[in-house]
This record gives sequence, C-alpha cells and structure tokens, in this order.
Amino acid sequence: MRVTVIGCAGSFPGPDSPASCYLLEAEGFRLVMDFGNGALGVLQRFAGLYDVDAICLSHLHADHCVDLGAYWVARQYAPTGPRPPIPVYGPPGTAGRIAGLGGEGTEAVLARFAFGDLAPGTFEIGPFRITADHVNHPVETFGFRLEHDGWRLAYSADTGESDALVRLAEGADLLLCEASFLDRPDNRPNLHLTARQAAQHASRAGVGQLVLTHLVPWNDRERTLAEATGAYHGPLMLAHSGLVLAPGAPPAGPGTPPSAGR
Ligand SMILES: [Zn+2]
Repeated sequence: MRVTVIGCAGSFPGPDSPASCYLLEAEGFRLVMDFGNGALGVLQRFAGLYDVDAICLSHLHADHCVDLGAYWVARQYAPTGPRPPIPVYGPPGTAGRIAGLGGEGTEAVLARFAFGDLAPGTFEIGPFRITADHVNHPVETFGFRLEHDGWRLAYSADTGESDALVRLAEGADLLLCEASFLDRPDNRPNLHLTARQAAQHASRAGVGQLVLTHLVPWNDRERTLAEATGAYHGPLMLAHSGLVLAPGAPPAGPGTPPSAGR
C-alpha cells in the first residue's frame, strides 16, 4: 500500500495544499479517501484523471467532499464520452449532497457514481480491508482503519476526542490524525483535536508512526508540531501535499516542506 497526501489543509484549502484528500494505492487499485476543495487539481499530478477505482468519503463537510462535484463534471463530459460509474462510499445522504453541488440533478450523478452507504463494521474496497466507525464530530463522520498485506493505516477523519479512534488505530503502523486546533482554553469540544490530543490518541493506540493532518492554514506549523511532541514518543511529522507514505520506508522526520513556512 502506498498513501499519497493530496490535500491536508483543514477546513479550507491553504496556499500549499488542497483540503482533505488522500490517494491509497495497492495492487494497481486506486482509492481516493475524501475529496476536499482543490483536491481534483493536485490529484492529477499523481493519478490519471480516469484512473480512480473507488472513492470513500468520511463525512459531508465541504472540505472533505466538494471536489467530487468537480470530478462528476470530468467524468460526465469526458471527450470520449461519459465514463462508467465508479463506487462512492459515504455516509447516508452522500448522493443528494453531491447532486446538490452540480445542479444537474440526482439522476445525472447516479449515472456516474454508484453510491454505497457506510456503516460501522469491516468490509473490503478493492484490495483494502477497511474497518469504519463513528468518530466524534457534529455531523455523521467515519474514521477508518485500512489494512493491506499486513500494513495497517488508521485515518481519524475529523473528530474531537474519541475512544473509537483509539480502537481503530490500535497497533496501527501509521496514524493519519487530524490536528486542527492549537492548545487554547476556548476550543470547542467534540469538533476537532489539538495536536497534543492527536498525539495522546496515538500513544493510547500504540501506533508506529504519527502524521498530523487537517492542518488549518492560520495555525503555525512549528507550534503544531511542538505541541504534539512530548505526548507521543514515536516518529512524528506534519503532513504536506505530495507526501508519500509506504510500508518499509524509513519513518519520515518532522520536516516542513520548503514552501510551507508561512
Ligand atoms: Zn468536518
């Protein structure tokens, strides 16, 4: 399995990254996990426009799903004719949400995407074994554990503090965990994690590596990293668009991408 961070900006796109989107590849199968604002553009640097085999959406907040509307346009109006439907997994209501983005109605969207409702449990998408469970966010939101060939990845999606996330991440090789907030006394509960809370979840789950994501552009990246350090003692880094994570690769250091110092 190889994971490419397409977008890791939290809640809206930043100057260096689209909003949430991850490309998971194994055995030639390409799964796009979340499809936030701006993701379709950067995705094309890493996969052909029509090489996506399935899509999975953690929840229906705009920064996790709206570029699926743009992708519908690309599949509907392909120069060689409309492309066949591909599976899209998401919370109940996903088809209506995506139809609302395009203005051409639900039937048009259903012609290009075969929607499947997520529910807590374990299932397969292509070569991936996926366990989904509800995490702690104001709308129905799924966190995931994805396994392939012995490698285990957990993805928090958007969540406040969550025992379900710890269960999903138990013993995982890598936790891709949101860290939207910095330590402040007035952070809204049951919405997002601070970097420190993300690190605490990683420690409780005993994961092998922690990558912080859903990084809000107005937060200082170095402070985000500093607040996580100390609450998790394994390899720790911040995500950036274009980051590739794969089993066997040495744990990446805490570096910041060259263009992301602002
Ligand atoms: Zn959200």
